[in-house]
Amino acid sequence: MQNKLFIDGKFVDAAAGGTIEVLNPYDGALITAIAAAEAADVDRAVAAAQRAFPAWSRMAAADRGHLLLKLADRIEANAEELAQLETLDTGHPIRDTRGLDVPRTAACFRYFGGMADKLLGSVIPVEAGFLNYVQRAPIGVVGQIVPWNFPLMFTSWKMGPALAAGNTVVIKPSELTPLSTLRIAELMAEVGFPDGVVNVVPGYGHTAGQRLAEHPDVGKIAFTGSTATGRRIVEASKGNLKRVQLELGGKGANIVFEDANLDAAVNGAAWAIFHNQGQACIAGSRLMLHDRIADEFLERFTRLANSIRLGDPRSPDTEMGPLTSAQHRDKVLSYVQIATEQGGRVLAGGKAPDGALSAGYFVAPTVVEAKPQDRVAQEEVFGPFVTVLRFGSDEEAVAIANATDYGLGSGLWTRDLARAHKVADAIRAGMCWINCYKRVNPGSPFGGMGQSGYGREMGFEAMHDYTEAKSVWVNV
Ligand code: NAD
Repeated sequence: MQNKLFIDGKFVDAAAGGTIEVLNPYDGALITAIAAAEAADVDRAVAAAQRAFPAWSRMAAADRGHLLLKLADRIEANAEELAQLETLDTGHPIRDTRGLDVPRTAACFRYFGGMADKLLGSVIPVEAGFLNYVQRAPIGVVGQIVPWNFPLMFTSWKMGPALAAGNTVVIKPSELTPLSTLRIAELMAEVGFPDGVVNVVPGYGHTAGQRLAEHPDVGKIAFTGSTATGRRIVEASKGNLKRVQLELGGKGANIVFEDANLDAAVNGAAWAIFHNQGQACIAGSRLMLHDRIADEFLERFTRLANSIRLGDPRSPDTEMGPLTSAQHRDKVLSYVQIATEQGGRVLAGGKAPDGALSAGYFVAPTVVEAKPQDRVAQEEVFGPFVTVLRFGSDEEAVAIANATDYGLGSGLWTRDLARAHKVADAIRAGMCWINCYKRVNPGSPFGGMGQSGYGREMGFEAMHDYTEAKSVWVNV
């Protein structure tokens, strides 16, 4: 298991010698201590990425793509080991890391590997006597800061498009979950990525992250994390006016109309909030129910929530693991009290399970009914905690759905497709799922409106976000 920084193709200690303890969220046991990057280490990593940039950006796009394709193959060849590592570090159930995180990571690298030589420029029809063409030029050194909820998958979402487009990368995983990113760096070295093209600097946000965001030689910072940290990133990036891409928090409205297929909607709503212990920016954390079906829906939904199997994430039977840290577990549980103080009703869960699971950072699947203006209907809880809201008309549903600062994921369940398209059009969110929830694909743009951030990951949108348009005029 790698526990050092990865700079210029080598695993190295942090200059100041600091370390961070990485804990197993299932039982709080120490997994390993990793080197903690500080500003001087980030400077070294950025310098290495700068040195690597000219050759990497001039390499034939198809050759860059080929390396990403080889990486995808190598990830699949090491799938079981990566799944185990991610489960150990994050607490995600092994059935998910095997079935979703690892395959999605390989698929995303493969998608961008194929995309590398398909990012076309254009020729603009201008006045006679001149030829004008537009190229997509890489930005240079890109800094990437990611959170702890899907650390393995985010290596591909962040690095795939950046590298395919010809940038070099310094990535800072969360201090809580650095292990899979370091393993990916090792696999990249094995398949032949040149030294310095990718550098990994695990460390704390206020030291390593802050330095990366403010570094004068970093051309773009791509950040996934909380809205509060996103504001700090914008502030820190101002010095050299670097490009900024922000994937921030969410408070997804998942709307069930009275004509929905209730079996599908109950299962879909549980997936929307409880997958990954609710630690997903796109989680359907506001479950909005039409008055006419609300009681029946809740009866079925709470029964399902109470039946979810919590346990050791390494067991294939486990459906829900622990949250990723003790501090985060405490934050999620604090929202139960916040909800009840404002008149909310706890319909399921609302506490940590006791007995064998009490050493881990578990929270029982929690269902709370509240009002649209309550804190639990406005603030991101980021755990297995769903806030139920009732509505009586389509107009009211849209008004409630849009009444937060966020605008990331959303969903709706109805048999009436005309209604579905009308409501999808009216919801202010970067993604809307109709009769499904939380579908992602490397080709489909992913990102938020409002205070959920700006810029898009995935697809051509991501390739554009990692390049600059360069207009060339020729006097012919
Ligand atoms: P966080 O903002 O606390 O931390 C995210 C990353 O930023 C970590 O690597 C952290 O070390 C770093 N960081 C912290 N302070 C920093 C600073 N001052 N300067 C630079 N870097 C700093 O978020 P978190 O708690 O790790 O993750 C949960 C949040 O991420 C939730 O709000 C969730 O919605 C969001 N998220 C968004 C998306 C999306 O695509 N929109 C996806 C996943 C998670």
